[in-house]
Amino acid sequence: MDPKKVEVLVVGAGVSGLVAACSLREAGHNVLVVDKGRSVGGRMATRRVGAGLADHGAQYFTARTAAFEQQIDRWIEEGLVYLWAMGFSTGSLTPNDTVGHPRYAVRGGMNQLTKHMALGLDVEVDVRLDRIELADGRWHASSETQQYVADAVILTPPVPQSLALLDTGQVRLAPADRAALDKISYSPCIAAMFRFEGELTIPAPGAIQRPANTIPWIADNQQKGISPNEKVVTLHADPDYSRRYWDAPEVEILETMSGYLQPYMPPGTRLQESQIKRWRYSFPETLYEESALLAASLPTLAFGGDAFGGPRVEGAYLSGLAVAKSVTRSLQNRA
Ligand SMILES: Cc1cc2nc3c(=O)[nH]c(=O)nc-3n(C[C@H](O)[C@H](O)[C@H](O)COP(=O)(O)OP(=O)(O)OC[C@H]3O[C@@H](n4cnc5c(N)ncnc54)[C@H](O)[C@@H]3O)c2cc1C
Repeated sequence: MDPKKVEVLVVGAGVSGLVAACSLREAGHNVLVVDKGRSVGGRMATRRVGAGLADHGAQYFTARTAAFEQQIDRWIEEGLVYLWAMGFSTGSLTPNDTVGHPRYAVRGGMNQLTKHMALGLDVEVDVRLDRIELADGRWHASSETQQYVADAVILTPPVPQSLALLDTGQVRLAPADRAALDKISYSPCIAAMFRFEGELTIPAPGAIQRPANTIPWIADNQQKGISPNEKVVTLHADPDYSRRYWDAPEVEILETMSGYLQPYMPPGTRLQESQIKRWRYSFPETLYEESALLAASLPTLAFGGDAFGGPRVEGAYLSGLAVAKSVTRSLQNRA
């Protein structure tokens, strides 16, 4: 099969890859996004549990910059995003009335936002690239079944996954770039989802957030508003627990994690279904010092993602904008 030719190949259809692709397309470039997942979204992940829904990656987003605040306002106007809460319970059973900063969620689940961002973009899912190499001044990327040739490549997967693609293709980065990228690591997170018949006593607005705990996050997707027909709860385990139980049988993980819900289960409430998701790369523990990295010796190769812009949805968004800008500039310099 002939390789597909594009001007810019964006690897990863998470927030950063989609934002970069939208921005490049607006600047008039021909862009293709590929992702190994069955759907777009990456860590903006929502799944069905019975007749309900659970967000099991990112749970909400916050805004620390004016640029992202303005984008959130546009999403709210479009009816995509809503203000979920100004704060959460830290474990008590009484409704939380602290007035902290706004936490936003997405109607129908977090991955609806990335589906919306992908509209109008050329996106191919179910494409797991296994190699990227440079030959005759152009980038060649391949999966088991697909081949692509591009003038520029933007890599947005978690950094170890991006480096593995380049290593397989024997792409040599400048030593300083390589050293900086090798330093970036991520914490793992085991997420568990439980569907119940009956009520739970998770207080309004529907989540318990306890940062220094084995289970720092418990969310009631029904109270959150994305699972009107079913009581589906998402739990996140902290990095220590997630490392310790990474290879444990699912049944053992589900048993220990569901134990943390006991205080919120009145008599008569019954567990109906359990699911698990292991996030090997949940949050970057170390960050790159800028919002994007344009490879020093290879200016048509760029890196973006939350390890560059900041360890959250907002960081991925800002990095997507930054990496698109860098690549646009280097394509202009080449012309
Ligand atoms: C459990 C959990 C909870 C979180 N909670 C929050 C939260 O409440 N608030 C918040 O702001 N942030 C949260 N985050 C972080 C947030 O989800 C991320 O910062 C953000 O979504 C990262 O986006 P990204 O585009 O940088 O990366 P990703 O979303 O990881 O996108 C990278 C994409 O690259 C694709 N890919 C990887 N390798 C290949 C390959 N070889 N070929 C093709 N495609 C490939 C992946 O499939 C993926 O879709 C959470 C993350 C997790 C995991």
